[in-house]
Amino acid sequence: MIGIVSATAAGAAARDRLAAAWPGRVRVYGGPVADAVRAAFAECEQLVCFLATGAVVRIVAPLLAGKETDPGIVCVDEAGRFAVALLGGHGGGANALAREVAGVLGAEPVVTTATDAVDVPGLDTLGLPVEGAVAGVTRALLDGEPVALRAEVAWPLPPLPVVPEGTAAAYTIRVTDRLVEPGEREAVLRPPSLVVGVGASRGAPAEEVLGLIGDALRDAGLAAASVAELATVDAKAGEPGLLAAAERLGVPLVTYPAGELAGVAVPNPSAAPLDAVGTPSVAEAAALRRGGELLVPKRKSVRADGRPATATCAVVRRPGRGRLAVVGLGPGARDLLTPRAAAELRRASVLVGLDQYVDQIRDLLRPGTRVLESGLGAEEERARTAVEEARRGHAVALIGSGDAGVYAMASPALAEASDDIDVVGVPGVTAALAAGAVLGAPLGHDHVSISLSDLHTPWEVIERRVRAAAGADLVVTFYNPRSRGRDWQLPKALAILAEHRAPATPVGVVRNASRADESARLTTLAALDPATVDMMTVVTVGNTATREIAGRMVTPRGYRWQESTR
Ligand code: SAH
Repeated sequence: MIGIVSATAAGAAARDRLAAAWPGRVRVYGGPVADAVRAAFAECEQLVCFLATGAVVRIVAPLLAGKETDPGIVCVDEAGRFAVALLGGHGGGANALAREVAGVLGAEPVVTTATDAVDVPGLDTLGLPVEGAVAGVTRALLDGEPVALRAEVAWPLPPLPVVPEGTAAAYTIRVTDRLVEPGEREAVLRPPSLVVGVGASRGAPAEEVLGLIGDALRDAGLAAASVAELATVDAKAGEPGLLAAAERLGVPLVTYPAGELAGVAVPNPSAAPLDAVGTPSVAEAAALRRGGELLVPKRKSVRADGRPATATCAVVRRPGRGRLAVVGLGPGARDLLTPRAAAELRRASVLVGLDQYVDQIRDLLRPGTRVLESGLGAEEERARTAVEEARRGHAVALIGSGDAGVYAMASPALAEASDDIDVVGVPGVTAALAAGAVLGAPLGHDHVSISLSDLHTPWEVIERRVRAAAGADLVVTFYNPRSRGRDWQLPKALAILAEHRAPATPVGVVRNASRADESARLTTLAALDPATVDMMTVVTVGNTATREIAGRMVTPRGYRWQESTR
């Protein structure tokens, strides 16, 4: 429970907005302020005080017991401009609460604990092996000292607050799979970019395999820490020497059917494996199977006793696979943006989106995020930019309001995207659902969404779909219902529905669902005034069973229920 306390009228107004935004989550403490703060401190996990920080400090000072037990406290100033994480930033969750409160009130979160304030991911939390001056470089990032990123291998890293390319800096983060001696002020991140193809005769000893791999990497100047996997032919999947070598290196042993390997073009095919396992190459073909650059052609192990080699290996560098997250931001309210969406926004080093959507989430972005924003209309270009950035190996987030797949960026982006990038979709609350929740339960039975924008779709097609929905008695939600230049489409669509539905059929009109200036009206097919509808609005028309009940729009779930309530 979050206890909230206020002293002045302005504080009380802000307090009430918070209470309205978080029903069931907050408890308002009234009465004399000091008593209220003390009671909330004793009873709640967190406090939001619409009071000066000094006042709160004096009241709670004698109550403080320790980081582990004290509640998190956020103070909001009289003008509602700042939400200050005062106490319990991490343990008490005050940093996160300050951001949430700020989101609801349109205030600025003020967070002063070191790692959160700079919001830098520790170099050891990136999921890659790291060597060299890890602590020193992390401290430089936290202190805001210039740190350069030298990426020899493109890898989809999260954003790091580094200086622009080409700028001199005392500290360096180097991303490489090559053997390098890190400088005194240099941390080396090891991307898992190397694949070692291996072949082995039956009974090949693990030591021989490991020795071969070690020599091959060393001679080529490559780091073992960057080996992502060993690869071989299916027939060798159970070969003990290979399994033991993979385990020792801490990587999986990946295998492919001989037929697949036989189809891979390699520089050094030979007859021996063709006879034994059915492919002219094992090591080179397995290493190259998923593409990449052959850095070490096939080499054989050398045995001290002079007996024939039992193992072969080859090393390939795979290009980093970029990552494209297609992220729906929800209809507007911060608490309808999913935690997964927020995580993806912070995971991406490149953010692509419409400027007004970027503004909606700018405070969530980590320092160092490259923001590529553009105005209305440039959709194809935004989609192409996002895909291009991902293909360069970056972690990219492409954002859209509501759900990014609904009349939005996901399809143009994925129409451009090839299979050389990873794509992650994060669903968002689409306008029809946000509006439905405001109106009541209009979508309780089968429903469709239809966009009335004929910019990309011929009107004949739209009209055919409206007729089909009308004939099938589907609840219809109209997106893009009406703009200054497109004013006749909505009346026309409603007229088509009216051929099949009674004039009294409920129609819900929701503007700016979940945003600060949300408004909603419940009217009927006959009474709807199209002039009240604009591009910030969705219009949901009920089916023949939809009713207005206690001021809410309700579509029965089943037709049997409908019969019995008629
Ligand atoms: N991807 C979005 C839809 C984009 S099309 C989504 O999933 O919601 C743009 C149209 O969506 C607008 O013209 C309007 O009809 C509708 N819309 C988007 N957000 C809305 C909101 N918060 N309230 C009402 N309608 C909204």
